[in-house]
Amino acid sequence: MKYISTRGNAPAKNFTEILLGGLAPDGGLYLPEQYPQVTRAELDTWRNLSYADLAFAVLSKFATDIPANDLRAIINKTYTAAVYSNGRADADFTQITPLRTLEKGVHILELSNGPTLAFKDMAMQLIGNLFEYALDKQHDELNILGATSGDTGSAAEYAMRGKRGIRVFMLSPHGKMSAFQRAQMYSLQEKNIFNIAINGMFDDAQDMVKAVSNDHAFKAKYKIGTVNSINWARVSAQIVYYFKGYFAATQSNDEQVAYAVPSGNFGNICAGHIARMMGLPIAQLILATNENDVLDEFFRTGIYRPRGTDHTYATSSPSMDISKASNFERFMFDLLKRDASKVREFWSQVEAGGAFNIRDSASWRDLPQFGFASGKSNHADRLKTIRETWQKYKVMIDPHTADGLKVGLEQRRPDLPLICLETALPAKFEETIIEALQRKPERPAGLESIENLPQRVEIMDAKVENLKEYIAANVPSMVK
Ligand SMILES: *Cc1c(COP(=O)(O)O)cnc(C)c1O
Repeated sequence: MKYISTRGNAPAKNFTEILLGGLAPDGGLYLPEQYPQVTRAELDTWRNLSYADLAFAVLSKFATDIPANDLRAIINKTYTAAVYSNGRADADFTQITPLRTLEKGVHILELSNGPTLAFKDMAMQLIGNLFEYALDKQHDELNILGATSGDTGSAAEYAMRGKRGIRVFMLSPHGKMSAFQRAQMYSLQEKNIFNIAINGMFDDAQDMVKAVSNDHAFKAKYKIGTVNSINWARVSAQIVYYFKGYFAATQSNDEQVAYAVPSGNFGNICAGHIARMMGLPIAQLILATNENDVLDEFFRTGIYRPRGTDHTYATSSPSMDISKASNFERFMFDLLKRDASKVREFWSQVEAGGAFNIRDSASWRDLPQFGFASGKSNHADRLKTIRETWQKYKVMIDPHTADGLKVGLEQRRPDLPLICLETALPAKFEETIIEALQRKPERPAGLESIENLPQRVEIMDAKVENLKEYIAANVPSMVK
């Protein structure tokens, strides 16, 4: 399996060659040259597989240059009930992603039982093991540099903690995350994890990361890399649970389903799109946004109009607060019948601060065949959905999952089973849960007093030089 760039001007690569990198050298995103197809006979066999066996079946179609025994060992080590159960005893965690039925035909697929209580652990835990494997083989090291306002940074740290050959330097805005989020990250004691709290906002932290990444000499000398949501291996790991959820919600492979996906950077739902292109019977992919509705606008109007950061709102589903959707280019490449010159044209408009409009083109007429529906949700909707789900089913959902469920129930075709992806546990967003339900969400066992653990964090002014000095001082083996 070879991977090509959505911008068409980069050489084709294999899975392990793009594993540790980010964007393609031409600025595009990597996608398989062709999507592997799943036959009816394969679907019938896959229906009864365990999560790890299913992950192996799916991922061996993509990671064709990793020897089968190695890939199997990496997957078996990743998808175990011990990693994905959080000490909870109220579901069958041998399933890894248990399906919770609210009522006939309405389900929640639990994806947030990993160590940081958000769906990002599903892919990130695999990435940690894949990175360690690849670096080991290449006798190489990698220093992951990132900025976070919450979920991504903690998922990356819990995936990389203690891994050979990997260090994580994670910047976060000092005093701007919840006490729980801070405790989650800063209480890690592994020597390869470096938490840096920046005196400033998230954007200041992000700018520092960009400045370091743009210093190509520094980046090369200190082997700086990232694990952001455009990483292809992350997307491919997410394809697996679309299959798992489908099998759990249906009796036979003749049935079709609707998925509802709380969306930000379009990474999660992009995996659903690919599962569908592989032949999984998904009739509807329902995209849900919060008040930051750039994607909902596209699917309703054909106009893709990224917002400036000054038009990006801080909401009560903060992990969906995006100004542009970094994985959306992958879908557009398919919608444009893989015409890379068209992608280049559209993204040159976007990167110049503009927009593009497909309303009057053949692409708009092609769009329905991809199965998308969309809608948005706001703070009041979110509270109402959390409250109604609690009252009706005694199930507590987090604000992001509530956005997905609200839009999913609105947009679903009534003849289809609806599977709403759970993207975080309510325990991560106590404040909003208290506002909706006047009660605190339960915490998974072992996390009750995480705020009291000793914390390890470096507080730093928002100066690029300080960051470079700190990295240089903590990457001793590379200062040759
Ligand atoms: C990251 C995240 C999302 C958005 O997922 P994308 O892949 O960026 O679309 C939604 N909910 C939660 C809780 C998240 O952490």
